[in-house]
Amino acid sequence: MNDTIFTKIINKEIPADILFEDDRVIAFKDISPQAPVHFLVIPKKAIATTNDIAAEDEALIGYMHRVAANVAKDLGVAERGFRTVMNCNQDGGQTVYHIHLHVLAGKALGWPPYQDRLKG
Ligand code: AMP
Repeated sequence: MNDTIFTKIINKEIPADILFEDDRVIAFKDISPQAPVHFLVIPKKAIATTNDIAAEDEALIGYMHRVAANVAKDLGVAERGFRTVMNCNQDGGQTVYHIHLHVLAGKALGWPPYQDRLKG
């Protein structure tokens, strides 16, 4: 898999506003927030898309969700709630091909998240 901008964040080659880090994951603020609170949880292992998650990655994916909830709690938004999203490929709106969990919070989020449901 080719390196992405997230590899550079993992390797500290470019800065990020890091909220949590350990040997398996990093959580950092999204550079273009789509909600009052918007951070990303990424694995240090480079996995391109949801389609590329292997059986051996199952625990890692679960751990990403636990980190999402823990960071949301630290930021004081876990109780009111938040949304986790992982976009996959073109139709999913994925732009960085290193899986990442978006965590959006800080307001009541609209649902459904699209306006073109009748266009097919
Ligand atoms: P996606 O479109 O689902 O692939 O999401 C990629 C996300 O990465 C977008 O929300 C971007 O704003 C975010 N992003 C891109 N570059 C950076 C960066 N250097 N630091 C933080 N977030 C970034």
